[in-house]
Amino acid sequence: MNCRACGGTTCKAFDLHNSRHGIDVPVYRCRTCRAYWSDGGPVDYDAVDLTGYYMAHAAPIRARYARLFEHLASLREPGRFIDIGAGIGFSVELAAAHGWQARGLEPNRYLAEHARQRGLDVATGYLDEQTNGQYDLVLVDNVLEHILHPLPFLRLAAGLLSDDGLMVVAVPPLDWLRDALGRSSWVRARVSRPQLNVFTEADEHVNMLSRAAMLRLARAAGLRPLPVRFHPSRVYDNPVFRALRLDDGYYHFTRL
Ligand SMILES: [Zn+2]
Repeated sequence: MNCRACGGTTCKAFDLHNSRHGIDVPVYRCRTCRAYWSDGGPVDYDAVDLTGYYMAHAAPIRARYARLFEHLASLREPGRFIDIGAGIGFSVELAAAHGWQARGLEPNRYLAEHARQRGLDVATGYLDEQTNGQYDLVLVDNVLEHILHPLPFLRLAAGLLSDDGLMVVAVPPLDWLRDALGRSSWVRARVSRPQLNVFTEADEHVNMLSRAAMLRLARAAGLRPLPVRFHPSRVYDNPVFRALRLDDGYYHFTRL
């Protein structure tokens, strides 16, 4: 497998066992980008009704988006907003509450339907060449780690940005500490907290993106990183965290 960020050769790092499908997923690492890649398992994002999961976690998810939109208010005037992979539409709800003209795109029809029933503008579907519009804010929130071809996906997302548009991308962070922990087979087998073990969803998470890999992908997709640091939780954004160069997995981009 070649690295999905730099195109260079990778080395097999280990197999991840996925108990849901009873398969071993080979995981490859790029020495240049220090990112991990796999082909994952057989996943159909439309097959399962995930509304129960989202409703059970509604309060913390809404709180996270509330903090995100408070933060974004310091960067941009409200305008047109799209969330790619909008889930049940909580981001769309919070964006609208902060004055954005908000819509979402969500491949899981149960989630999209639930959002529409709540009066939100969430279309069922994947991001593709048919997706059009110009947006002042594009959110790609914990989506990129699921995408087998992240570069064409990011290019399509970048194509939705208005001239001064802002893209916010969040992925599970992979820094030196998470890398070291993830290399330990003991951690991989026994630690289920995704903050400490980035290899928790072997079938779904096909890209484990280091900051180097994320920035390479973004540049190749025509995006320029902004020097903005944000995380909704103080646990992940504090002086100790910064001094140790731990990553928070949040990125802000504009067009190149
Ligand atoms: Zn690479």
